[in-house]
Amino acid sequence: MRELVHALCSVACAGRAPGTPGGVRARQKIVEALRACGLDPAEQSIAGTRAANVIAALPGDIDRWVLVAAHYDHLGGHAGRFYPGADDNAAAIAILVDVARGIARRRPQGRGVLIAAFDAEEPPYFLTREMGSSYYADHAQKIGPPVERIDMMVCMDLVGHALGPSGLPSEVGQTLFALGAERSAGTLATVQSLAQSEPGLIVRPADAEIIPPLSDYDAFWRRRVPFLFLTAGRSARYHTVNDTPEFLDWNKMAATARWIERFVRAICRQPAAAIPFVDDARADATTLHSFIALAGPLAPVAPLARVALERAQKLLAACDEKGRLPSALRSAPAELILGLESALS
Ligand SMILES: [Zn+2]
Repeated sequence: MRELVHALCSVACAGRAPGTPGGVRARQKIVEALRACGLDPAEQSIAGTRAANVIAALPGDIDRWVLVAAHYDHLGGHAGRFYPGADDNAAAIAILVDVARGIARRRPQGRGVLIAAFDAEEPPYFLTREMGSSYYADHAQKIGPPVERIDMMVCMDLVGHALGPSGLPSEVGQTLFALGAERSAGTLATVQSLAQSEPGLIVRPADAEIIPPLSDYDAFWRRRVPFLFLTAGRSARYHTVNDTPEFLDWNKMAATARWIERFVRAICRQPAAAIPFVDDARADATTLHSFIALAGPLAPVAPLARVALERAQKLLAACDEKGRLPSALRSAPAELILGLESALS
């Protein structure tokens, strides 16, 4: 992981802007890394740009698939300075390759696994048709299985750092948020059952709508493909030249790779029918439980966390038996999470 992260954050890759020589070098590194794991990756050029996705397939027993994905591009640079993008998103690519290695070594039962390193996630492509993930979703059938055969899209963005500054209780730092599990049948239960299955990592589910669509899962959500978005949120180094490898939490990254492998195997072996997408799902109580688990250990040291904790407990009491808040309070969990993100960054 260290080797690949350092290569992707090197001067040679110069911030990995889509279509630049640095972006091409980053793509070559990823192709080489996947080949070394025994995969046969293909490049998918994005029409109208010089960007390209890297896609590899590990077929299973049936023609249904789990997609594990992360974008590899970043903000580039100029005049000798560049944005390394270690947490955004070189760390996720290193985890992706590690997951691919584990899956290739021992194939899951049931579904096959697709590995995707997307290009062109960052501006100016963000949320356009040329965004790598969106382009892939539109043209998947030209390079592999059509998107209708994908039963789960696991998306990683900003997964390389410990949550909050060092010195906080481990249950804070080891947190990885998992958004969107409520949008497909059975997925939230799977995430909850695995939440603490890997030492060094605590996966905390939250409703997909606590943030605007901030990464590659958006294209799949819009096409009603079940998804899970893994992120530790934006740190103070987000989109700065200080997003460098020395701030990464390598132990947490290794645990994240093992966790994703475990989650992928659990989804692969589910019954062969398509996993239903759930349009109107809400996981307000789930979000609040995750928030309370984080604010609890912070409350003794941070007065604001104590206030927020009380607010979260009141909101939890206002949820109905399905864990939904009344519509007037729907935006409250998102505000709490946003406050937590900025307090910890
Ligand atoms: Zn990113």
